[in-house]
Parts: sequence; C-alpha cells; structure tokens
Amino acid sequence: MALVNEHYLKLPGSYLFSDIAKKVNTFKITHPKQDIIRMGIGDVTRPLPKACIEAMHKAVEELANKNTFRGYGPEQGYDFLIEAIIKNDYASRGIHLSPTEVFVSDGAKSDTGNIGDILRHDNSVGVTDPIYPVYIDSNVMSGRAGTLEENGKWSNVVYIPCTSENDFIPQIPDKRIDVLYLCYPNNPTGTTLSKEELKKWVNYALANDTLILFDAAYEAYIQNPDIPHSIYEIKGAKKCAIEFRSFSKTAGFTGVRCGYTVVPKELTAATLAGDRIPLNRLWNRRQCTKFNGTSYITQRGAEAIYSPEGKAQVKETIDYYMENAKIMREGHEAKGMKV
Ligand SMILES: *Cc1c(COP(=O)(O)O)cnc(C)c1O
Repeated sequence: MALVNEHYLKLPGSYLFSDIAKKVNTFKITHPKQDIIRMGIGDVTRPLPKACIEAMHKAVEELANKNTFRGYGPEQGYDFLIEAIIKNDYASRGIHLSPTEVFVSDGAKSDTGNIGDILRHDNSVGVTDPIYPVYIDSNVMSGRAGTLEENGKWSNVVYIPCTSENDFIPQIPDKRIDVLYLCYPNNPTGTTLSKEELKKWVNYALANDTLILFDAAYEAYIQNPDIPHSIYEIKGAKKCAIEFRSFSKTAGFTGVRCGYTVVPKELTAATLAGDRIPLNRLWNRRQCTKFNGTSYITQRGAEAIYSPEGKAQVKETIDYYMENAKIMREGHEAKGMKV
C-alpha cells in the first residue's frame, strides 16, 4: 500500500480567489453595462521586451541548425546568463559573486518552494504577515509548519505582523527563528525596507544563527536610490542569506519562466551534531538531481534584458506599471480609502 504525504491534507483550501470571482459575477449581473477592471489576481499585461524576442528567435534558429544545436545545458544555468547577472545586478552595486554562487532556474516560485528540500523538517519558520502563500504552504507540505490552529495560524510558524499601525514595517521578534522569509519590495503590501531596516534583520540573523530567505522578485520596481536592491548590500548578509530573483515582474517572463537564486559560498547551516555545512553544496546537489536546467531559448531571452536596448525597454514597461499603480492609488484615495 502506497501511503500519501499526509501533510498535504492539512492544507486548507484557498477561498480568496473564488470569493472574489463570486463577487465579481454578482456585480456583473447587477451592473451589466459597467466595465470591470480586475485588480484581484496579478499578472503582467505587456508583451516581452523586443530585445528578448529577438534573442529568443535567434536561439530558436541555433537549435534548428545541426552545427549550433544544444541539448541539455548546465543545471545551474549557462555562463553567458550567469555572467550578465553578476555584472549587472551585483558587481554594479559593489557585490562580488562567483559564477558558482548563482543558480538559474525556471522562476522564483519553484526556488522559494523547493529550498526547504535542503533544510531539516523541524526548523522553526518565521514570516512577515501578510505574505506570499508559497512560503507557508511549502513548509506545510514538508511537515515543518506544525498544526493549523483555530486562529488560522500554524503552530510552528512565527508571524511578524505588518499592519498600518507599524506602517507595514516588520519589527524584530523577541524569540529566535531558524528560517526567516523576507520579501522586499513586498508582495502584497508594496513596502520596501531601507538599508537601516534591512540591517536590523541581517544583524538579528547573524546574532541568532537564522537563515534569511530573501525574495527580491520586485527588485526592478525600486525607485528610491537609497533602498537596497539586494540583501548582500548589507554587510554580513552573505553569511546568513539566500536571495531569490525573478524575471517575471522585471520583464514579463511570467509565462516564459526564468529566475535565479544566489547561495553564497560562505553561507552554512548546522547538522544536529553541530558541524557547519555549506548550503551552496547542498543546493547544487539538489538542483543537479531534481532539475535539468532552464531552456536555452529562455536563458538567451533573459540575457537580452541586460543589453542596452533591453534595459531601456524594461524601464519603459516598469514605468508603465508604476503609472498604473499611481492611477490605482489615486483612484482609491479619491474614494476615501486609505491605501
Ligand atoms: C510573482 C512572485 C514570485 C514568483 O515568480 P516566478 O519567477 O514567476 O515564479 C515569487 N515571489 C513573489 C513575492 C512574487 O510575487
């Protein structure tokens, strides 16, 4: 008899989006002539940057030719993309990474969801609240979240409130946490953390031997030059943090699928016996075993984001979404809502 992973059975259904759909349908019936702008579930609406399209077309042609065809690529990603990532996203901000510290993937959802593979099942988990649901649900699936309590919270998860009372800035908890998820700029609140605020978290992690899982999927939307784009802009972060990035919100890759994860060489976690193990080694092993790399075409498309044309096209698209955000904010404020 095959037994199921019963942790999956603990997951409650997600009613949020079906509730929204019901409300929208009711509104449609009672207001048949009104146009509806759906702001409930996010996806990009603009097509891929032209530079990416051209690079991907070219890559398809290469695969069509016997002399330039490529099969399996490196599980960690092609050097051309890893080098472009290091040069443009890190070296430009004074962060030095070696190519073996960057793992190209099919997106940040997979990596933030799978990272728990290399961590023991009984680590305590901390999240800012509200959060992107993948962080909690993936821990529930591996039995790390504990049991669901009546208030809808998990017994082994520390929730760090982000509310209008604290201006959506999380406060350092008074207990220690083994694994902490931070997402900045934040989904869903849109908040960013200043260098000072982020430094508090890195110092907390270093003092408590906490592993920070830093999701920077919205990095490209940062407007204020004083806001850190990477957690590695904070001293000591390479010793305590993994960073996740995605091309989805940056360049409309939600359907194409590409992101990357940085696991610094100096980052370690402990065995029960107290030995320190480099997480880079474990993540590399995990990826080589369970992942066969992001497609060549996709990685050529992602590389093109870093060309001068690609950068200009990405900026134009992000400016467009930022303008939408402004319209939404002003519209809601005009209706008397606090947003
Ligand atoms: C969209 C999103 C992701 C997932 O991005 P993909 O690369 O498309 O998987 C990860 N984290 C946050 C916070 C997101 O909003």
